[in-house]
Amino acid sequence: MEFCLYLINFDKIISQMKYILNIFFILSISLINSCKNNKEVHLNNDTIINNEKITIETSTNSKSDTSASLSIIETNNNSVKDSASNFKTKNKDNLNLKNDSLNKYHIYISLDDGPQEGTRNCWKILKECNVPATFFMIGVHNEGKSKTSLVDSIHNDPLFVIGNHSNTHAYFNKYSKFYNDPSGSINDFILAEKNLNLNSKIARLPGRNTWSVDHIIKGELSALKTVKKLDSLGYSVFGWDTEWHFKNGNIPVQSADEMVRTVNYILKNGKTHSKNSVVILVHDRMFQKPEHAASFKKFIVSLKENNNYYFNTLNNYSK
Ligand SMILES: [Zn+2]
Repeated sequence: MEFCLYLINFDKIISQMKYILNIFFILSISLINSCKNNKEVHLNNDTIINNEKITIETSTNSKSDTSASLSIIETNNNSVKDSASNFKTKNKDNLNLKNDSLNKYHIYISLDDGPQEGTRNCWKILKECNVPATFFMIGVHNEGKSKTSLVDSIHNDPLFVIGNHSNTHAYFNKYSKFYNDPSGSINDFILAEKNLNLNSKIARLPGRNTWSVDHIIKGELSALKTVKKLDSLGYSVFGWDTEWHFKNGNIPVQSADEMVRTVNYILKNGKTHSKNSVVILVHDRMFQKPEHAASFKKFIVSLKENNNYYFNTLNNYSK
C-alpha cells in the first residue's frame, strides 16, 4: 500500500515536471519569436530612420537581448549612415541638377567669309531652326544680284547680325602684310562697312583668333595695333572658342556629334573665353553639299535639344 502511494506520488511528480517543462518550452518559443519580431521591426525600418526612434527602441530592449540589440543598432546606424549618405548623394544630385538647370549657357554660332557658296544653306537652316547667328562677311564677296539680295535678307532679319570680317580678307590672305600695316588694315575694315552696309560694331580678324571685348584684348597679339585701333573705333572684336574645321577647302572634318560633344565639354569645363559662353566658328562654304548641310542642321538641332543652351548673336555677347 505504502509502495503504491509512493508510485502514485512519483507519477504525480513526473506529470507535474512534464507540465512545468511544457510551460517552459512554450515560454521559450514565444520569447524567441518576440526577439525575432523585434529584429524584423528594426530591420524593416532601415529606410529612413530618425535618431530618436532608434534611441527609444534601444532603451526598451531587454538586457538579455543586448547583443542582438547592438547588432541591430549597428545595422540601423549603418542604415542611417547609408540613408544619410544616400540622402546626401541624392541631394547632391538634385543640387547638381538644380545647378545645371540654373546654368544658362550662351551659344553663339558665327559663320565666316560669306557671302559665298553655302551661305544660303546656312541661312535657311538657321531660319528653319529659329536660331540666331552672326555672319562675319567680307566686303568684296558682296557682288552680284544673288549675293547682294541674300546679304540684304540676312541684314533685315532680326534673327541675324552681320559682322565685319574686313573688305579683302587681309589682302586676300596676306596676313603679315595686312597686320604690319595697321592704317591699311583699318581702312580695309572701313571699306567693308560700306560694301556690306554694316550697322553693327562687331568684327572678326581674318586669320587671327584675337578678342577685344570691353577694351580687354586677348588671344593672338600679332594683330595688336589693328585690334587697338578697331577698339578705339568702338568695335568689339570676337575670336572663337571652338572651330568646326574643314579640309580640301570646304569639307567638314568633325561630325555633328563630335562638335556637339566638344561644345558640351568646353562649356562644362570652363574652357571658353568667357564662362558659360561659347563662340563657335564655322565657314559657310563647308555646307554647300546636301550631306554637309544636313550635318550642320543636325548640329544645330542637337544643340537646341539642350534646355540650358540659349542662342544669341554676338552683339549680345554675355561675359
Ligand atoms: Zn575668314
